[in-house]
Amino acid sequence: IAGLGGLRYADRAAAVLGRYLTDFSPADLRAMCEAAYARFDPAGVAPLRALSGRTWAMELWHGPTLAFKDVALTLLPGLMAAAGKALGDDRELVILAATSGDTGKAALEGFMDAPGAQCVVFYPEGGVSEAQRLQMVTQRGGNVAVIAVRGNFDDAQTGVKRLFADRDLARQLAGRRRALSAANSMNFGRLAPQVAYYFSAYADLAAAGRLRPGEKLNFCVPTGNFGNILAAVYAGRMGLPIGRLICASNRNNVLADFIGTGAYDARRPFYLTSSPSMDILISSNLERLLFELCGRDAARLNGYMQSLRDEGRYAVEPDVLCGLQSLMWGGWAGDDAVTGEIARVWQEEHYLIDPHTAVASAVLRDYRAATGDPTPCVVVSTASPFKFGRAVARALLPASEGDDFTLCRQLSELTGLPLPAAIAELPSLPIRHTARCDPNDMRRALLRALLDR
Ligand SMILES: *Cc1c(COP(=O)(O)O)cnc(C)c1O
Repeated sequence: IAGLGGLRYADRAAAVLGRYLTDFSPADLRAMCEAAYARFDPAGVAPLRALSGRTWAMELWHGPTLAFKDVALTLLPGLMAAAGKALGDDRELVILAATSGDTGKAALEGFMDAPGAQCVVFYPEGGVSEAQRLQMVTQRGGNVAVIAVRGNFDDAQTGVKRLFADRDLARQLAGRRRALSAANSMNFGRLAPQVAYYFSAYADLAAAGRLRPGEKLNFCVPTGNFGNILAAVYAGRMGLPIGRLICASNRNNVLADFIGTGAYDARRPFYLTSSPSMDILISSNLERLLFELCGRDAARLNGYMQSLRDEGRYAVEPDVLCGLQSLMWGGWAGDDAVTGEIARVWQEEHYLIDPHTAVASAVLRDYRAATGDPTPCVVVSTASPFKFGRAVARALLPASEGDDFTLCRQLSELTGLPLPAAIAELPSLPIRHTARCDPNDMRRALLRALLDR
């Protein structure tokens, strides 16, 4: 870890990834990381910003689509192409993604005009921010399609999982030399690159003398589908000295309840919140953590998942709950708390955060109040505040009116922070994608999108 301190981010990432992707040569991995992370702005891939009280924000949103999904999705297309080549597999990849707002755009941008790949994204109609929606429906590229689903993210993700399990669809595509693959964090290629930034944060703090070698560090992660925080769990299992992982949810607080009680119960109202990328009730990657916590007992894990499908709930035994609670603490923050936290952090720290990061920041304060844990902590900052202009303006400019872009311009003036070009250009781009479908009609919508090109 100390050795990582002297390396640039791309080399840190290659060093960590090399522990997983042992089929690639170190030189190839370095070249792929180099190319992917050259697409980030000069601030870097995972810079830290110091806040008061041994707390730092790790900004993961300096990539092309202004959210942390870029860290993996700038890299994944290159990894997939190299793997296909090494295996002599010349089938065209059809990349499917369900998105709660940020994965979709990052996948579209990553796979745009990639040779041998098409990318089809399903997003919940009415369930993403205006900037997120426009980022997707204005996407350029001859190999991409964007489809609105009349449902929420869970409907879209369940539908995509159903497409992956559809043997008949797989046969039809194979007949045209095509194969499905995933851009969601169900794809391990999404998780592996995310492990690297936890090491990077620790290495930066150690190199700056802020941590003694081996000293514990906490991370507080705004969580939806559980991919980001699971990458932190993996970093810990690789030896990173992590104290506690703080799992922060919005009002869709199924994870906070689960970590507190051991009972996962998705039978509850689904809320649209100001942090839409976390509006999720069925957190896909939790299954992977439970697999580890029940000693890789697949039969036991299957029991939980079967019960989730059949009854909408399951409960884990005390040994699993005990393992979970020794890794994690769960909390949640509603929209009013988020508005208050954005305003407080701006006033006290002169630092502008988006609603997802604000959920984490608010939950970290609850955690420290509840436990008195003095361990230093990194708050994982997952999106640029300008992707969620309306929610951020509600905190800083409560009297302002107008569309999201007017609000973003006003925020930029108020804070002196430049409006990112990727947001400023949105209102003037032509709309290219207008398809819509019902959740049970995603198969037909997919085939239509593939035939259209
Ligand atoms: C995807 C996303 C999250 C949630 O991350 P998971 O890996 O799904 O838990 C949080 N914040 C933002 C901005 C996101 O895009």
